Amino acid sequence: MNKLKRIIIHWTAGTYKPNSLEKEHYHFLVEYSKNPMEQGIIHNGRYKPEDNLLCSNDSPYAAHTGGGNTGSIGVAICAMLGFKDYLHIGNYPIKPIQMEVCYELCARLCREYKIPIRKDTIMTHYEFGKKNPHTSSKGKPDIMYLASNPSLSSNKIGDFIRNKILWYFKKSETYSTQQCS
Ligand SMILES: [Zn+2]
Repeated sequence: MNKLKRIIIHWTAGTYKPNSLEKEHYHFLVEYSKNPMEQGIIHNGRYKPEDNLLCSNDSPYAAHTGGGNTGSIGVAICAMLGFKDYLHIGNYPIKPIQMEVCYELCARLCREYKIPIRKDTIMTHYEFGKKNPHTSSKGKPDIMYLASNPSLSSNKIGDFIRNKILWYFKKSETYSTQQCS
């Protein structure tokens, strides 16, 4: 594979700060920081997106999506430790600012790697697992519940995320056109 073909979006099932193990598994991780003001901070993982062009034991890569790592950029929101179901979401719900930072990051990655914004190129781990039930990604909960938009049902979250990314993508397009004129 000579081109990164898709982005898969996750939550870490950890706290708001990435740890070193999490950094091995994703290319980008969005922290939530309370200080000095509430914000989302992007961390680079240990491996670059390009490391996932070829996923084999001889060449290390970010293993984020069982059965779907090759050609896939892994973006993770640092949150959701202790999530069990809608009634038991734990003490680290995804913050709205983390999602905004994630949408903008994905829009930038789409531009940089020329990845179109479609169902088969931008997806959550949850969606990948549903589409690929014979992989270890089957039944993955990320992202079946979005604490920033709690009324969204699981099967609507992917479309919601793609629309947001598209909005940021178009916004940056307008901006770059203005810069040129
Ligand atoms: Zn995942």
